[in-house]
Amino acid sequence: MLIIGSHVSYGKHGILDSVEEALSYNANTFMFYTGAPTNTIRKDIDKDIVNQAHELMKKNNIDINNVVCHAPYIVNLANKSDLDKWQFSIDFIKKELIRCDELGINKMVLHPGNAVKISKEEGINNIIEALNIVLDGTTNCQILLETMAGKGSECGSSIEEINNIINGIKNNKQIGVCLDTCHLNDAGYDMNDFDKYLDDFSKNIDLKMIKCLHLNDSKNERGSHKDRHANLGIGTIGFDNLLNIAYNDRLKNVPKILETPYIGETDDSKERIYPPYKYEIEMLRNKKYNKDYMKNIREEYGR
Ligand SMILES: [Zn+2]
Repeated sequence: MLIIGSHVSYGKHGILDSVEEALSYNANTFMFYTGAPTNTIRKDIDKDIVNQAHELMKKNNIDINNVVCHAPYIVNLANKSDLDKWQFSIDFIKKELIRCDELGINKMVLHPGNAVKISKEEGINNIIEALNIVLDGTTNCQILLETMAGKGSECGSSIEEINNIINGIKNNKQIGVCLDTCHLNDAGYDMNDFDKYLDDFSKNIDLKMIKCLHLNDSKNERGSHKDRHANLGIGTIGFDNLLNIAYNDRLKNVPKILETPYIGETDDSKERIYPPYKYEIEMLRNKKYNKDYMKNIREEYGR
């Protein structure tokens, strides 16, 4: 059975709200931030709520091992020109791992980092140094390095760069990879032939290291290095390619997470209007594109 879910919010009741939102989309997994992705303000974790969330997951056949946390994208392990900031990022990621352990979550996706004004090679060395401090064996949760679009000086936009980071990590039990189809397309990989990508990947990195897949269409052409997600079938990758990727046998047990935009969300305003996830999940499960799905979403949620 396809393991499919979406990004959901971590609400007033923390992860309990996340589970409820995922269930409303008929998802069997989900991904969340432990607070706003754009800041590092975090609330203490309430054990009662965690227990309730775990029970609700069990009752609805959501395997907690498929649930994924995402680290905020403002921390940056690649640049240590400001040592205080770099240390802050390290401390914060460490605290996020502790929070994941408390939540019972064993996977956290991380954008490797942005080299800014230094070479990517130097950036990658800083990431390795930071992750070796973070992964000191006192926490359980794994860090999954996300493949990036290569916007600006982003590290981790090629198989080689991801491989270089992994090779530098001493505690390799706690490291894995999260693929993102939009980022792969924007980084220049051909999503018309995903098996070719997996072949190339497996020449460098064991496919078992892939522990999560972000399933997104892309607003831009292959190789654009842009990183703008599109709804399924409304981008340059296309529904059929995304469907093939979702059902690829080699990634059968890997949770797939949608990070597609809300309907009505524009590039300028981050205003969220209607979530598309119930409809996108339905199309993936039915293996059939519904050309009216945008209209159906507006009808269901609209006034
Ligand atoms: Zn992603």
